[in-house]
Amino acid sequence: MLNFYPGPSRVNAKIPKYMLDAYREGVVSINHRSPEFVEISKSCIKLLKKKLNIPGDYSIFYTSSATETWEIIAQSLIRKSSYHIFNGAFGQRWFTYTKKLHPKSTGYHFPFGSLLPIRDINVPDHAEVICITQNETSNATQIPNHLISKIREKYNNQLIAVDATSSLAGIKLSIDNADVWFASVQKCFGLPAGLGLMICSPKAIEHAKNINNQKHYNSLLAMVDKMAGYQTTHTPNVLNIYLLKRVMKAAPNVNITHKKTLERFNDWMDFLSKFEAFELLNPNPEVQSHTVIGIKGSQKLIEKVHQNAKQAGIILGQGYGELKESTIRVANFPAIKEREIKICQKFFKRTFE
Ligand SMILES: *Cc1c(COP(=O)(O)O)cnc(C)c1O
Repeated sequence: MLNFYPGPSRVNAKIPKYMLDAYREGVVSINHRSPEFVEISKSCIKLLKKKLNIPGDYSIFYTSSATETWEIIAQSLIRKSSYHIFNGAFGQRWFTYTKKLHPKSTGYHFPFGSLLPIRDINVPDHAEVICITQNETSNATQIPNHLISKIREKYNNQLIAVDATSSLAGIKLSIDNADVWFASVQKCFGLPAGLGLMICSPKAIEHAKNINNQKHYNSLLAMVDKMAGYQTTHTPNVLNIYLLKRVMKAAPNVNITHKKTLERFNDWMDFLSKFEAFELLNPNPEVQSHTVIGIKGSQKLIEKVHQNAKQAGIILGQGYGELKESTIRVANFPAIKEREIKICQKFFKRTFE
């Protein structure tokens, strides 16, 4: 099967080899307090910093998922409230989840398909963290770097936390524009699910120290403490950390990946513009996601596409949430092969021309 689902998606083609190496090298049964683990973890963190252009004074932590990171931010970086900027289902979920822990949190649901109007952002003084979903996987939109930078200029007291789950490692992100970035590895990293990354600025760590919440096994301060020795508060997904290290070692710098992602994105746009039956879910190029492509059509047509795709051995993403039946999402993640894109495009052509 060819997998174009926007996460979990196709894994990096080298994963079978790396998994076998992990088994042969005994990585799958090493102790997470052993020097062997520390070596793998240290090398993984260094490679992440280098390949993703993460500033040297930022810290990287392992989590189990992006969802866990929502929770860590809520308990370790927010005393009273946060402010959420979003236009789709993932941003909404983050907001809803945080409100359970901090009912005073507020949000701004900006209009779908248009550039985030910075003027309409109104962060209350009691909000400590501004939460932004950089790439909204559910509706194939993104908030570009330059707007995050505008928010940074406007609000220097608050922390800015960015959900980049389906864009980190796929496109260039200006990490120093925000204090917390997070993702899970089953999207642009091309790895099996079960590992997340949380990237924190010195200001974020400082803020966690001021709040000093130590009530959770995954309190950020406990994670900082363990990460000083490249370790975790609990037994982590050692195999996936090893795989991440291998994938990062072989990966080019994200600036190069970014170019490839954009070229492929433009190719998809050209290709899709030839069909009458479809429309882009979001036609505004200023806010189109580059890593997730959204296609809109009648419910009948969308149903047919999914059925035919399955028969052709292709997994496409269904719509997400309320868009489930009217849209198709196609992942444009780096691990997908050129050849596979061509097969997928041939399928579209065959079925709908
Ligand atoms: C997939 C996704 C999540 C959830 O990731 P998990 O690894 O399942 O926790 C959160 N936010 C965005 C934007 C996503 O695409």
